[in-house]
Amino acid sequence: MKLAILGATGSIGTQGLEVVEDLRGIKEIEVVGISGNKNLKLLEEQIRRFHVPFAAVPEEADAKALATAVADTDCKVLSGKEGLCYLAAETGADMLLSAIVGFSGMLPTLKAIEAGIDIALANKETLVTAGPIFMDAVEKYGVRLLPVDSEHSAIFQSLHAGERKELSKILLTASGGPFYGKTREELEAVTLAQALKHPNWSMGAKITIDSATLMNKGLEVIEAKWLFDVEIEDIEVVVQRESIIHSMVEFCDHSVIAQLGLPSMKHPIQYAFTYPERLPAKGERISFSDLGRISFGKPDEDTFRCLALAKEAGSMGGIMPTVLNAANEVAVGAFLQEKIRFLEIAEYVEKTMDRFENIQAPTIEDLLKADRAVRELGI
Ligand code: NAD
Ligand code: MG
Repeated sequence: MKLAILGATGSIGTQGLEVVEDLRGIKEIEVVGISGNKNLKLLEEQIRRFHVPFAAVPEEADAKALATAVADTDCKVLSGKEGLCYLAAETGADMLLSAIVGFSGMLPTLKAIEAGIDIALANKETLVTAGPIFMDAVEKYGVRLLPVDSEHSAIFQSLHAGERKELSKILLTASGGPFYGKTREELEAVTLAQALKHPNWSMGAKITIDSATLMNKGLEVIEAKWLFDVEIEDIEVVVQRESIIHSMVEFCDHSVIAQLGLPSMKHPIQYAFTYPERLPAKGERISFSDLGRISFGKPDEDTFRCLALAKEAGSMGGIMPTVLNAANEVAVGAFLQEKIRFLEIAEYVEKTMDRFENIQAPTIEDLLKADRAVRELGI
């Protein structure tokens, strides 16, 4: 298999490359393209380690610096939006691991679908923003859209136990994040450092904050709606504190099927790479007798408003999920720079959603325009 990776230097991207190495001798994966942003040293190391023929970075100056650094290799370095799109769609890949964080991953991922390339999707913001357009393109170009998000991989795997018409609901699990059980008063004072300390997962900064606000779960509800063609009301978020049950599905006979494992993204990444096969994995396996217990709870949507807002945007459809996502990216960016407080993230998202008239059945231009308009508003 030939693989291109958008966001190769990030948490998902680097684990994707580890899976490529883990699978050597079992399934050969050739890495034909990688992209990153500012981490040029790591990109250079990856280009050399995997003999990658194409690399892309957003900024022209960074592309020049990287090209100089790898001048002794056969790697061609591209830049800008066009560079990312070329990397995703035209480097001969059979599969794209879409692992850029945020909206910037949308166009290159769509280009890859249009080029008939299967997608291993980590970049949930793309599906939240442009769900109907993506799903139409997936059907039109006959590609596979394989979920890398652990919950969606679990749902995808659990769905194999029955027919689609037999499904009654999806049980989307959530760890609850670092602030589970806290009141609004307690959340007033939380710091950036506390929000960046996730109890179970080690991830990029943006998704770690999204996990603390429960926006991540809200984005995942919308992601599940599109991936599995279900209504928002048929997706129940269940807190599962230890992140061992990655999600479940309930069938019409009330049978519940779950997928379990240690909290490692290498499992869903590997399954997307090897699907429909299962191949031996490296690393630790789960020991239930050592684990002892698995605990459950309910999300508190009054305190963690982002989950409720995302469900609302998901039900409204049109440009609202795009507005929600862009407002959240702006707010999380400001929180990461310590310009706003934790609870202001949800307040800003809600205020921004109120400012926009919805447009039903939007075109890709409508979505790009709505995304830009939110970012121009700033905070
Ligand atoms: P990360 O911040 O660790 O990595 C992001 C990658 O995107 C980096 O390679 C970075 O260079 C690149 N990038 C960032 N901004 C860019 C831009 N403007 N243009 C081009 N490239 C850019 O993030 P991550 O944790 O790996 O998450 C990536 C995606 O996967 C997100 O959508 C996230 O929601 C999703 N996801 C992550 C995890 C996880 O465990 N990390 C789990 C499920 C889903
Ligand atoms: Mg997830």
